[in-house]
Amino acid sequence: PGPLRFRGERVEWLQPSTLEQLLVLKELHPQAKVVVGNTEVGIEVKFKNMLYPVILAPAFIPELQEIQHTPQGIVFGAACSLTCVGEELKRAVATSPAHQTQVFEAVLEQLRWFAGLQIRNVAALGGNIMTASPISDLNPVLQATGCTLTLASTAGLHQVQMDRFFLGYRRTAVQPHEILLSVLIPYSTKWQFVSAFKQSPRREDDISIVTTAMNVTFTPGTSVVKELKLSYGGMGPTTVLAEATGSKLVGRLWGEELLEVACSSLAEEMTLDPSAPGGMVTYRRTLTLSLFYKFYLTVLQKLA
Ligand code: FAD
Repeated sequence: PGPLRFRGERVEWLQPSTLEQLLVLKELHPQAKVVVGNTEVGIEVKFKNMLYPVILAPAFIPELQEIQHTPQGIVFGAACSLTCVGEELKRAVATSPAHQTQVFEAVLEQLRWFAGLQIRNVAALGGNIMTASPISDLNPVLQATGCTLTLASTAGLHQVQMDRFFLGYRRTAVQPHEILLSVLIPYSTKWQFVSAFKQSPRREDDISIVTTAMNVTFTPGTSVVKELKLSYGGMGPTTVLAEATGSKLVGRLWGEELLEVACSSLAEEMTLDPSAPGGMVTYRRTLTLSLFYKFYLTVLQKLA
């Protein structure tokens, strides 16, 4: 069957039933808005007077709802709801060795404080990524842990690493004729530790002030840093990696000297203009250090 189509005075709603139909429609209407949970687009339309004349609703396309287990990790279709992602990750945490599920646990930690149940039941993983909000709670985890995104168009599929995905304020590497098809959330390895933290005015159902994910891998059998990725939300127009700090700490022992270097480097790297949207500039800058301190202690305990 062809796509289900509703046409109103201002908006046309198209619900393709196959991936192929979706990709052809996206090519025909590159400016069409893809809508899954509508928790972001709905706000834009209702409160920001945005008008999207063509809407593509792909929520029922099997490939966008699929969950696949691969040797690298779990691949979620972009339209999987956050509740569904959380349930699958919980199952994996319960049945896999602890060292493999560090990334899953970090995603689960962020989901615990992510909106309310009604929102999580409809909001999609892909919707959170594609909104490219600088205070997304999931994007720092996906960025710090090197998640891979698969984009699709009529020309085929291609993959993009999360750490190269955000190009500017709410701008991503996805071209107008493309859609986000799926997201690979990887298994972690032995000697890898991942944590995620969210600081918001209220504990539950609130927007982050600063949100972060931190991912360190040690040279096996030592406390020498092999790789370190620190990703922050709320510290710029996009989710950002503290790349300079990460590389400065490679090769160092996880100890007080590293902590000192990390704090002075983060203070230099994670700056904000005094007029930055959201205000609380000094507080936000301080949070980048105090959340790192929390991570430092968490990892120290795990190494002991
Ligand atoms: P939609 O509104 O359907 O779409 C969002 C954007 O993604 C649109 O631009 C759409 O075109 C694009 N898009 C969606 N899927 C695709 C695809 N497959 N390919 C290409 N483009 C696509 N966010 C947080 O990070 N943390 C929170 O705690 C949080 N709390 C919230 C609380 C409330 C009350 C509300 C309303 C929102 C909250 N959000 C939060 C933001 C929002 O819920 C998330 O960003 C959500 O994941 C968006 O998913 P969705 O399916 O509803 O997206």
